[in-house]
Amino acid sequence: MEKVVSLCKRRGFIFQSSDIYGGLSNTWDYGPYGVELKNNLKRSWWKANVYERDDTLGMDAAILMHPRVWEASGHVQNFFDLKSDCRDCKKRFKGADLIDKNKCPECGGALTEQRPFNLMFKTYQGPVEETGNEIYLRPETAQGMFVNFLNILDSRHPKLPFGLAQIGKSFRNEITPGNFTFRTREFEQMEMEYFVRPSEADKYYKSWVEERFNWYINLGIKKENLKKREHAKDELAHYADSCTDIEYNFPFGWSELEGIANRTDFDLKQHAESSGRDLKYFDDALKERFYPYIIEPSGGVDRAVLAFLVDAYNEEKVRDDTRVVLKLHKDLAPTKVAVLPLLRNRPEIVGLARTIARDLKKTLVTVYDDTGAIGKLYRRQDEVGTLYCVTVDVKSLEDKQVTVRERDTMQQERIAIEKLKEYLSNKLIS
Ligand code: ATP
Repeated sequence: MEKVVSLCKRRGFIFQSSDIYGGLSNTWDYGPYGVELKNNLKRSWWKANVYERDDTLGMDAAILMHPRVWEASGHVQNFFDLKSDCRDCKKRFKGADLIDKNKCPECGGALTEQRPFNLMFKTYQGPVEETGNEIYLRPETAQGMFVNFLNILDSRHPKLPFGLAQIGKSFRNEITPGNFTFRTREFEQMEMEYFVRPSEADKYYKSWVEERFNWYINLGIKKENLKKREHAKDELAHYADSCTDIEYNFPFGWSELEGIANRTDFDLKQHAESSGRDLKYFDDALKERFYPYIIEPSGGVDRAVLAFLVDAYNEEKVRDDTRVVLKLHKDLAPTKVAVLPLLRNRPEIVGLARTIARDLKKTLVTVYDDTGAIGKLYRRQDEVGTLYCVTVDVKSLEDKQVTVRERDTMQQERIAIEKLKEYLSNKLIS
């Protein structure tokens, strides 16, 4: 884990937020490579869950919502963790993490009684800070889809089963954030709300568990590092009838990446009651009106980015040297191609390399680098997971060919410059 955290900082994937002020604890900023990786991950999710299906629609709701949403959803009442403080060392603990509820696990001191602590961030809308103006930063994106259910039915007329997909920021005032980007107070979620006939809920719940598990595997997570864990009844959230977590074998232990829950008709019923609007669905085929059940696969973007980074991190012995290589899936790699001149003091070589890079940039994320010897340039690209390195040498000026080196095998091939774009595109675009 330390190696991944250090690579993230050193190479510009993830930085501590507000670093020059000593940092804001447990808050992270994505740097140039990090933002590409995160965007690629979100794009892969969107492609699999919106573009490649014909039963889902995308949307993007606001982070701020009417405060009554959170009363109806149960979050004002139920979305809390129990916390205890140590009377001696003053450290704060989440009740669920404590083995002995009375004794501090750090210093052995006495703990205060457990008190509920609501995880929603509260703020004020408008210039007056008074009770009537209180609103919340959303703790999940899901409610944005439930409260738009009618708008979607009226504008797009989808038939059951259908899903609404959304990616966006959520906020939780976690008591014990930590493990780098695993648990933070501001994070991004990728959520699907899949509306089904109640009699079919279990079938779709099970198929979504498989679907989501396979998404991680298809994007390169090693099978032995991923598992499913079904929740016991006493662990379920207040809205769920059943839930399965997809867990990843992080360096700090098996931990949740995503949860797939059967939320029943809880949410639509609650919002119908609270808003006074009719949120039932009329099923043409069954000639019945009812509240659909909702199957929800809900994953964290930041947790997934961390899992893919950890899983892709490799150290390999190459002759007397060790190379660090991020073996990220081609759809996730932040940079697809690096163009490198073998001799940086030869203007014809540099000129040709720059022309090739400029041309490739139009279709593939490509960088040009001439700031070191070739061995060093290769290592630098391996460390950030660049898939192909294209080297321009003296011979290229005559035979109009370049050397293409593949990241994982390090195998090299001579390719004609005029065929290069087609060659790389065939390998990289799926
Ligand atoms: P946990 O048990 O780890 O607190 P949760 O079960 O409360 O998570 P959900 O409410 O199911 O989480 O949220 C769905 C997904 O959102 C999680 O699987 C996770 O990937 C992500 N997520 C939730 N809380 C956080 C957080 N504080 N930081 C980063 N990601 C989070």
